[in-house]
Amino acid sequence: MATALPLVGNRDVQARMVQVADGGRLHHACLFEGPEGVGKRTFALWLARYVNCEAATRPCGSCRSCTLLLAGTHPDLIVIGPDPERATAVISVQQAQELLGTLKLQRHSARHRFVILDPADLLNDESANTLLKTLEEPPAGTHFFLITARVASLLPTIRSRTQRIRFGPVGRAAMADWGQGRGLDATILAAAAGSPGLALRLAAGEAETRATLRAAVLGAIGQPLGKLFAFTEAEGKRDGGVNHAALAVDVVEELLRDTVYAANGKEPSGADPDANEQLRAWSAALWPGGNARMSQAVAVARDRLHLNVNGRVVLEALLAQLNLELSAATPR
Ligand SMILES: [Zn+2]
Repeated sequence: MATALPLVGNRDVQARMVQVADGGRLHHACLFEGPEGVGKRTFALWLARYVNCEAATRPCGSCRSCTLLLAGTHPDLIVIGPDPERATAVISVQQAQELLGTLKLQRHSARHRFVILDPADLLNDESANTLLKTLEEPPAGTHFFLITARVASLLPTIRSRTQRIRFGPVGRAAMADWGQGRGLDATILAAAAGSPGLALRLAAGEAETRATLRAAVLGAIGQPLGKLFAFTEAEGKRDGGVNHAALAVDVVEELLRDTVYAANGKEPSGADPDANEQLRAWSAALWPGGNARMSQAVAVARDRLHLNVNGRVVLEALLAQLNLELSAATPR
């Protein structure tokens, strides 16, 4: 059975490394180079599990070796990043010396010991020189994985002692397949430009922005118009205006959908009970005529943003109408 490779994209690179590892020819110092967010570190960690797994189908994820490696507590896996003791990001000479001390000790239980330097471009002259000899000839059974997105920043003396493994950006079709499985939309995938890691970060950032906006819209509606317009001005301007305004329109639509749910006896989608209470009050005011008019207003707002109308102007009109619908219905 073919091994299930861990990364989307870079299939050839992964398959070749597996083949090399299976043949017992894994180089003692591999340099994983390529763009941010394509999975270089993920693959390095996976390969450490693959090589050391005690089961027949590797990596099993549940043997002693896999469990310890997955938990990051295996004594034969050493991951070195920026020195937390330093104000500037650097892999320090102290870290390098400490590593040499550790490598003098016998391996614990693993067949192969792995040292991951990530990002390796944070080695400075001093720490790099401390490691040179060991990088050239590490103790038997010890492998270095140097990881970098800025290979030009590595000292030539380091580069020349490694086997260079080049990772590329993930192709468009593979990104689309992968993104679809995770519910990521096309704009995020396009912005991520072949980097699944970046796509996930962008999606997380957008989710956070949406949540903030949702709370902000709920807070702004019902305020005197002056305050409402101060809000729309701030929102309309941020991040180049139009994209942020489009997100704000999405959020208004989501809130309106919640009022429709509430009118039909379902719970609004938000987790905040106060906000849900507020949405039930909106629902009483809007359902059904107000909802129909607001849904029209959302469509108009989208069209106008599409025609490059200023984001602040579009939001102002949309939120003023929502405010009006709600206040017209309030006094009973
Ligand atoms: Zn295992």
